[in-house]
Amino acid sequence: MKNKVVKIVVAVIVVALSTICLFGCKQESEARGELKVEYDVNLAVDVEQSKVYLKQKIFIENHYDSEITSLKAYLYPNAYSVPENDAKGREKQDLVTIGNVNCNGKNVSYSLEGILMTVNLNQSLTKGGQLELNVGATMSVPNNKLRYGQGEGIMNLAECYLKLAYYDGSDFVTVDYIELGDPFLSGLADYKVKVEVPKGWDVAHSGEEVCREEGETLKIQAELKGARDFAIAVGDFNVYQTEVDGIKIKHYTRSDEDNTSLIGRYLTEFISKIGDFPYKTLTVTELPFEYGGMEYCSYVVVNEKAQNKEEIIVHEMLHQYFACAVGSNGFTESYLDESLVSFLTIYYMDIVKGGGYYQDEVKRAEKYYHTFLTASRAVYGEKYNPIMAKNLDEYKSLYEYDALVYKYGVMAYSGLLDILGERKFNKAIKEYYDNNKGDIATTSNLIDSFEKVGGRGVRGVIEAYLYGKTTFGVRLVGV
Ligand SMILES: [Zn+2]
Repeated sequence: MKNKVVKIVVAVIVVALSTICLFGCKQESEARGELKVEYDVNLAVDVEQSKVYLKQKIFIENHYDSEITSLKAYLYPNAYSVPENDAKGREKQDLVTIGNVNCNGKNVSYSLEGILMTVNLNQSLTKGGQLELNVGATMSVPNNKLRYGQGEGIMNLAECYLKLAYYDGSDFVTVDYIELGDPFLSGLADYKVKVEVPKGWDVAHSGEEVCREEGETLKIQAELKGARDFAIAVGDFNVYQTEVDGIKIKHYTRSDEDNTSLIGRYLTEFISKIGDFPYKTLTVTELPFEYGGMEYCSYVVVNEKAQNKEEIIVHEMLHQYFACAVGSNGFTESYLDESLVSFLTIYYMDIVKGGGYYQDEVKRAEKYYHTFLTASRAVYGEKYNPIMAKNLDEYKSLYEYDALVYKYGVMAYSGLLDILGERKFNKAIKEYYDNNKGDIATTSNLIDSFEKVGGRGVRGVIEAYLYGKTTFGVRLVGV
C-alpha cells in the first residue's frame, strides 16, 4: 500500500493530463424547497395463506413553488407479478389487488403499470398545501429468495407498501426496476409502521420498536424518521441486542451465533472515521436470500447461508452511510455507492481483522478484473471499453456489472488511497458524507469532495476510472 507512491504519482499526472473533462460543470443545484412525506402503514400478515393486507396513508406537504397534479409511486411487490405473454414463458400471475384509493376522502383515478402507480389528483397540490392519500391492497407473497418473497420459513417483505417516487422540486423522477443492481431513487420520509403476525412469529424491521403487544397475534409498531425505505421480515428468530454509542443494535438470526459485538466493533470504527451513524437503530437480519445481502435504512438483510457473512454485514452497514444517508440514483449512477462501499468494506475489514486483508483483496479484485477484461476483449473485440459510468440497463451482463462496479471500483479507490494517503483519503470520504447526507448525491458531488482535499488533479483520475481510460493507471496501481 505504501511502496507504490512514486510510480503512481507519475501515472496520475499522465492520466490527469490525458483525460478529457467529462464532468465539466457541477449540475444545477436543486430547486429550493421540500416535499414533506409521512407514511402510516398497516400490514397484516397471513403466514398460512402467504398474503399481506396493506392499509396505508401517505401525508404529503408541498413546500416547493411547483404545482403537483398527479403523484407517482412504486408498488414494488408488483415487480414479482407475471404479465400475460411473459418473456420467460411463465404463467400469468397477479400478486397485487388494489382496493380503495382516495385522496382527502375522495376517490381518485389511478393507473398501475408494472410497479409504477400514477394517481391523478382531483385538486392540484400547490405550495403550502397538504394531502392525505389512502390506499388499500391485498398482496400475495411469491416463493423466492428475493427482496419480496418467502421460503424456508421466512417471509422477506421489503418495501411492501406504496412508496412515493423521488420529487426533484419540479417533477417526480422515476427509475425502471430491473433485475440488475439496486435500481432505486428515493426521497426522505418519516415512517410509522404497524405489523400484525400470527402467534409464534416475530417481526424484524427497520427503525425502532415503539410498541409491542403479544396475544392471539403479535402486533408491533415501529418508527423511523428521515428514511428512504422501510423493510420487514417475518420468521421465528433468535434476537440478540446491544447498544453502541447510543445506537441500538439488533441481530435477528436462526443460528445461535450472536454477531452484535462484531457489528458494534465496526460501527465504532465508522463513527470515528466517517461520522455519526445516521439512524438511532441498526437491525441485521439473516434470512434465505439469493444474493449476499441488501441494504435498507437502519436495516440490512444478510444471506444466512453465506460463507463471507462478516464481509456482507460490513458492506451493508457501510451502505447506511452511502446509499441510505447519502442517497443516489441507483439506476444512472449505481457505481457511486456500490464502488465506494465495496472498497471501504475491505479497508475497514483490514483495520479490524488485519493480516494483510486489504492487500489480498485488492490483488483479488485486480485478478478478477483482468480476467474479465481479457474475456470481454475476446468476445466483444479489442475495442471493448470498460466504462463504469453508465445506466444499469447498459451493462451487458451481471459479470460486467460485478467486474466494473465492484472489482474495478475497488481498484479505483485503492489507486486514490495510494495517491492521497490515508489521512486525506478519509477526509475526502468524511467531506462527501457531511456535505451530502439527506440529499441525492451525484458523481460531481463525489469529485468535489475529493478535489477539495486532494487538489484538481484528482478529478482527472476519477473520471479516467469511470470512463475506462485507465489502462496506464490500472497497470501501475497493479504493480
Ligand atoms: Zn452494495
